[in-house]
Amino acid sequence: MNREPLVRLDHVKKYFAFKEGLATSYVKAVDGITLDIFPGETMGLVGESGCGKSTLGRTVLRLFDKVEGRVLFEGTDLYRLKGRELVAMRRNMQIVFQDPLASLNPRKTIRQIIEEPLRFHGVRDRETRRRRVDEVMEAVGLSLAAADRYPHEFSGGQQQRAGIARALVLRPRFIVCDEAVSALDVSVQAQVLNLLQRLKKDFGLTYLFISHNLSVVKHVCDRVAVMYLGRVVEVADKTRIFENPIHPYTRALISAIPIPDPDQKKNRILLEGDLPSPADPPPGCHFHPRCGACAALCGTQEPALTEIEPDHFAACHCCCGAAVPL
Ligand code: ADP
Ligand code: MG
Repeated sequence: MNREPLVRLDHVKKYFAFKEGLATSYVKAVDGITLDIFPGETMGLVGESGCGKSTLGRTVLRLFDKVEGRVLFEGTDLYRLKGRELVAMRRNMQIVFQDPLASLNPRKTIRQIIEEPLRFHGVRDRETRRRRVDEVMEAVGLSLAAADRYPHEFSGGQQQRAGIARALVLRPRFIVCDEAVSALDVSVQAQVLNLLQRLKKDFGLTYLFISHNLSVVKHVCDRVAVMYLGRVVEVADKTRIFENPIHPYTRALISAIPIPDPDQKKNRILLEGDLPSPADPPPGCHFHPRCGACAALCGTQEPALTEIEPDHFAACHCCCGAAVPL
């Protein structure tokens, strides 16, 4: 693998302010994340609902005006770009959303929807636009005869294909798939996942693949980052995450994946307590109140993401030997 990252997150934070009486409080949706995404890989991002996955995806695409820390695309700090440079940079990165119908304008035909980014980015020649739309429709498996129909006339799978075609039409290099198959029927999910895999090869794409569904992530990702309350707690190769998880939170998540074979026994690790609010996360290691193996240090000091074995990182005082569980 080429070791120069395509995308680098460097101590990134994104807090949302809200009023509590007279005081201002913050939802710490992304709370200090450092992560590299390498060219050509599919980086999975998993974690419970509300842990900050979508916010991180939006942060990476520079969909906010400002964040703390740096987000680099091939070494360029996205949040320092303005005007034309920013518009040009945006062509490199796109997003595919969970709910295809909600993300497609109901008053426009599929051709108009897929064509829109080309217009926005100043591709004036009609013939060029027509050709580019035809190309991507073909690439995602949509019949050209359907181009003049409206989104509601399509099935969920076809709508998502249109959403993917729209993301592809500017020939981006990086795509955030935010729960891109979560709303689809299982059989359709598999088709769309296979399509994403093929497009990745054909178009030389890099994905940040966000999902709360670990089975889906296991199927498509190369590496996986596990998030808990705004922070990444573990990053490694997919195989290591699924076969040798280190962080107690990852272990609990993996143990909860259903196994299709009823004869196979599984030792499910049950997490105690609820997911705390990201507006008021526990001090130190965010996971410590729910952790079965923590030390005094865990309640006071944030653990750094540490390389525990080659290319396998975890943020846990006890896993990296800094503390011994009480
Ligand atoms: P996930 O995608 O993992 O479910 P999100 O990134 O959507 O998590 O949300 C993380 C936290 O940030 C949640 O508590 C959510 O309510 C909050 N949040 C997300 N977007 C906003 C926003 N625009 N304004 C205020 N709070 C937000
Ligand atoms: Mg989300």
